[in-house]
Amino acid sequence: METTKEKVKPIVVDAKLLSRKQLTADVFEMKLESSLPFTFLPGQFISVVVPGAGPGGRDLRRAYSIASSPELMPSDNVFELCVKLVEGGPGTNYLNNMKVGESLKGSVPFGDFVYKTSSSKHVIFIATGTGIAPFRSMVLSKVFNENKPLSAKILFGARDANDLFYADEMVPLLGNGFVETLSRPTGNWSGFKGRVTDWLRQNSNAIDWKNTDFYLCGNGAMIDEVKQILTTNEVDKSAIHQEVYYKVKPGETHTSQD
Ligand SMILES: Cc1cc2nc3c(=O)[nH]c(=O)nc-3n(C[C@H](O)[C@H](O)[C@H](O)COP(=O)(O)OP(=O)(O)OC[C@H]3O[C@@H](n4cnc5c(N)ncnc54)[C@H](O)[C@@H]3O)c2cc1C
Repeated sequence: METTKEKVKPIVVDAKLLSRKQLTADVFEMKLESSLPFTFLPGQFISVVVPGAGPGGRDLRRAYSIASSPELMPSDNVFELCVKLVEGGPGTNYLNNMKVGESLKGSVPFGDFVYKTSSSKHVIFIATGTGIAPFRSMVLSKVFNENKPLSAKILFGARDANDLFYADEMVPLLGNGFVETLSRPTGNWSGFKGRVTDWLRQNSNAIDWKNTDFYLCGNGAMIDEVKQILTTNEVDKSAIHQEVYYKVKPGETHTSQD
């Protein structure tokens, strides 16, 4: 299956914050109401204007995947974002400080990281941190649910249990296809211990490598490491889809799973 809708030209919208929900100590979800209806494909993102935060007081832009399904949009213009607060980061601090009733400006939709798996294949979504946002949009979408793959799995990597979220929504949708992996679990964690890459290596025999589409999103280092595993298992490039949120620069410690 190719995507069922043609991609559309981005439009500029104002989006009013209707509510926000803290998902972990540093991850929050924003429910926004757009001034105009817009069409997007699950996996696409909005380019948000961060006013006056650039050099010389110029505006900056930051990309945020839409975490809600397109089907929320046409009726009430509502969409959701899932954002990790980065210390000292202008974009995430701007969003974190927004009050209910205030509006942001953005252009939407952008991106080629969209769901396009046929119902004759398996799919494995692999995320660290807020990289799960586009996968939430995908598994909630009509495109996914009307063309279900042979099986669907979300591998969600975090550092410890305090960094996990969305299990309440994903388990009812995917059952044991929602797999949480913790690189540094504390307390009584009975789930998988290790990174998403460890899970892939340890479960290699259970994966139909040649008949699975892989969608990777989040930390660039994780994506590079997963791609090496996929290459070793002779996964065709056309079956690998990726969205790199950030690359950790030398000296930084902001990884979602290390
Ligand atoms: C297509 C696309 C979609 C994106 N969607 C989302 C999304 O849905 N939710 C989201 O939270 N972010 C998302 N991002 C990342 C987002 O655009 C910003 O880069 C991020 O929010 C940091 O912005 P900032 O201005 O606060 O900090 P910046 O000054 O831009 O970043 C400071 C440093 O923080 C680190 N960093 C950036 N993002 C993260 C992160 N998520 N976790 C840990 N460390 C990080 C980087 O090393 C960066 O150098 C997306 C990026 C892209 C390219």
